[in-house]
Amino acid sequence: MAEKSLFEKICDREIPAEIIYEDELCLCFKDISPQAPTHLLVIPKERINRLAEATSDHQNLLGHLFATVPHIARQEGFLESGFRCVINSGPDGGETVPHLHIHLLAGRKLEWPPG
Ligand code: 5GP
Repeated sequence: MAEKSLFEKICDREIPAEIIYEDELCLCFKDISPQAPTHLLVIPKERINRLAEATSDHQNLLGHLFATVPHIARQEGFLESGFRCVINSGPDGGETVPHLHIHLLAGRKLEWPPG
């Protein structure tokens, strides 16, 4: 069996994290190195290494991840003030953890374009 990703270990409670939302398909926890006052990661429990490897088989799961974002934003109190979702895929995308995740950033006015 392939070695578990860091985020699979967080899912399985082998590595601690501040989990703020969980359902049968996904988990949301605080990023260890926040880039905004609120910096959350939303991950599928099923491992997809990166967006570049997603296929039509993952359509429902990806839809679920994105549909969960406004629920989390409402729960955490930044639905109205706004937020940004970022997915880094591959070396040029800045990916460092090979387990698909949506960065959910909020709590300050974010600049554009990103670096
Ligand atoms: P990436 O660079 O792959 O887009 O994002 C990976 C994110 O995971 C980074 O923002 C990084 O701070 C976060 N991260 C890395 N290791 C840990 C960890 O052990 N716990 C948590 N909560 N976040 C982590």
